Amino acid sequence: MDCLFCKIIAGEIPGNKVYEDENIFAFRDINPQAPVHVLIVPKRHMENILECDGETMQHVLNAIKRVAQLEGISASGFRIVTNCGRDGAQSVRHLHFHLLGGTQLSETMA
Ligand code: 5GP
Ligand code: ZN
Repeated sequence: MDCLFCKIIAGEIPGNKVYEDENIFAFRDINPQAPVHVLIVPKRHMENILECDGETMQHVLNAIKRVAQLEGISASGFRIVTNCGRDGAQSVRHLHFHLLGGTQLSETMA
């Protein structure tokens, strides 16, 4: 399967890794929208949140907390975004969660 994030997870394409465990791979976005912009990605390929199950969401939740701690933004706060499909402006078709922080984020979301 020709999937950019599967290739990053497999180490075939370099990714700036922040965190990894059995189920999750997290790396810095190549085009950061905030001082902290990490992509938290389930290793198992699924297109978007519509294909996601509860067990995977639990792994994602654990990783969000861990990466926020590692990046030093637990106390100051952050935003989690997952884009889904065309209107959601999803550009990479492998489920991922954007962790954004390190500054005061905009109040607008759309
Ligand atoms: P989406 O638009 O699908 O929600 O987010 C995809 C994200 O992947 C974008 O923020 C984009 O900057 C990031 N991205 C695209 N290609 C690469 C890459 O090769 N490496 C990394 N680290 N991030 C990428
Ligand atoms: Zn994939």
